[in-house]
Amino acid sequence: MNLDELYQTVILDHAQRPRNFGVVPQATAVAEGLNPSCGDEVTVSVKLSADRQTIDDIKFKGAGCAISQASASLMTVKLKGKSRAEALAFEQTFHDMMTAATLPAYPPGFGDLRILEGVRKFPQRVKCATLGWNALRQALGE
Ligand code: ZN
Repeated sequence: MNLDELYQTVILDHAQRPRNFGVVPQATAVAEGLNPSCGDEVTVSVKLSADRQTIDDIKFKGAGCAISQASASLMTVKLKGKSRAEALAFEQTFHDMMTAATLPAYPPGFGDLRILEGVRKFPQRVKCATLGWNALRQALGE
């Protein structure tokens, strides 16, 4: 199995068995993203700590292509328990990974989010991959 095949396997696994699927009880913020060009939708709900600086819980609900659902699933796994600042930094890095002319420097802990790096070669799929992340940024009030 080469690296591309491995990445594809992980993406399909997350698309078929999404992690943190649903709505956070007593969410402090909910935001929805729509990608009409592909028919994807992702709703992200978060529960922030009392001081609003930590993501105590995060879930997503949605429907659409494998890239959109796997990206949101990977995001929730990665961001649960992270600080708000770290989550926003990851969102910026993810966005740069998709759209910047050159690949960004990956922050510590960014890890397997990089398996979506190859999507940047397919501009029409970039909106699929960033859908959940855009909703997250909204949910965090940015
Ligand atoms: Zn899509």
